[in-house]
Amino acid sequence: MRGRGRDHHDVIVIGAGVVGVATAYALADRGAAVCIVDGAEGPGRGASFANGAQLSYAYADALAAPALIAKLPALALGLDPLFRLKLAPEAGFYAWLAAFLRNMTCSRFQRNTREVLQLALESQEQMQALQKRRPIAFSHAVPGKMHLHYSEEALRAAEATVALKRRHGVRQDILSAREAISIEPALAQVRGLVGVIYSPDDAVGDARLFCETLLEVCRQDLGVETRFASEVTKIVRKDGWRVSVAGGEVLAAPRLVLCAGEESRIIARTLGLKLPIQPVKGYSFTAPPGPDAPMISLTDTQRKLVFCRLGAKVRVAGLAELGASSRAVDPKRAQLLRGLAREALPAVANYEAVESEWAGLRPMTPNSQPIIRWVDSHLGLNTGHGMLGWTLAMGSGARLARAMPALGA
Ligand SMILES: Cc1cc2nc3c(=O)[nH]c(=O)nc-3n(C[C@H](O)[C@H](O)[C@H](O)COP(=O)(O)OP(=O)(O)OC[C@H]3O[C@@H](n4cnc5c(N)ncnc54)[C@H](O)[C@@H]3O)c2cc1C
Repeated sequence: MRGRGRDHHDVIVIGAGVVGVATAYALADRGAAVCIVDGAEGPGRGASFANGAQLSYAYADALAAPALIAKLPALALGLDPLFRLKLAPEAGFYAWLAAFLRNMTCSRFQRNTREVLQLALESQEQMQALQKRRPIAFSHAVPGKMHLHYSEEALRAAEATVALKRRHGVRQDILSAREAISIEPALAQVRGLVGVIYSPDDAVGDARLFCETLLEVCRQDLGVETRFASEVTKIVRKDGWRVSVAGGEVLAAPRLVLCAGEESRIIARTLGLKLPIQPVKGYSFTAPPGPDAPMISLTDTQRKLVFCRLGAKVRVAGLAELGASSRAVDPKRAQLLRGLAREALPAVANYEAVESEWAGLRPMTPNSQPIIRWVDSHLGLNTGHGMLGWTLAMGSGARLARAMPALGA
């Protein structure tokens, strides 16, 4: 065990979701004395809690895509139940929306996807290295993933992004429905399937469990200190940082790293920074497997749903609501998710025995690229990971730790 006692930290990390825990690990692994602080009772209680569980290394596509342009009128009129837009009163929301629209061009979509893909591949490497050095249990498996397409047109439209991925060394194939069913027989239940994009190296894992087990490694082996039920209430910058948390403790360190997910923008504002992050609410449910549950993870591209086996359970996630700020589960939306899932894959889960339903807020940037940088030698940002924070966490932590400047630089 390392660490220099409770009164000395090199870095305070705010937020113990997948990104904060991966960041604390990467910093401590490079020798920093880290204290990680979170307002929740334990790690992984925010957007990382019950997400879709996909480590989608091969699927890094930006949300702002040319294909979304045709859907804008329906979106604006609230006619698309899968992607809802709720106009939020704060000024930052409209600037965000304008930037999101600007990112829908073909060239920006390609650039954003390329950047995120690069980070996803770094994350895959970092995850493999972690598994070798410090194997931890979090229902991790590499079953591969299939994106289901229901028209020749949609399948052909995906060809350009498949080519882009392949240029970066990603294994990805376009398969006919018959070829796909020969690999994953559970697809026989899908009505109207035309073909799939198959990514054999994509993985799954329980993000909350990962936060808990990796943080335990951080505590035991790397001397990382933790403060839970410790919401940050005040941050003062004077000779380094003084961070006041609920309960009255004041933590001090020369460096501060913000990994507070969707709430990063609110904390950043108190530090004089405007971060282009908006919440995009999504839902998930966890159920026992049905009579024909696939081994391979599936994404229904029409209904924008992900399905996977997670340990002995099936996890299904989807829906997007831009501008929603409450984490509460709306029973109607949860019912919509269950209905869509059953319509797409009727025998995948035991829909009568759903064990838990959940909603979370994805911290989304307009270009789908997370914000990973040191503002100066004292303040780091690792946030805004949107739809893919679980996939991108390990690479993001490593990048920020690698780039940590010397104090005063
Ligand atoms: C329905 C759904 C499905 C998803 N599916 C996938 C998927 O399949 N694959 C994938 O890669 N990604 C997926 N995502 C996205 C992914 O879950 C997120 O991008 C990721 O969890 C963000 O992690 P984070 O650590 O940045 O934020 P969080 O996990 O939200 O962590 C932020 C932490 O900061 C803490 N915090 C905030 N403010 C304060 C404060 N003032 N004081 C102290 N602590 C504070 C919070 O308590 C929280 O624990 C999904 C998201 C949703 C909602």
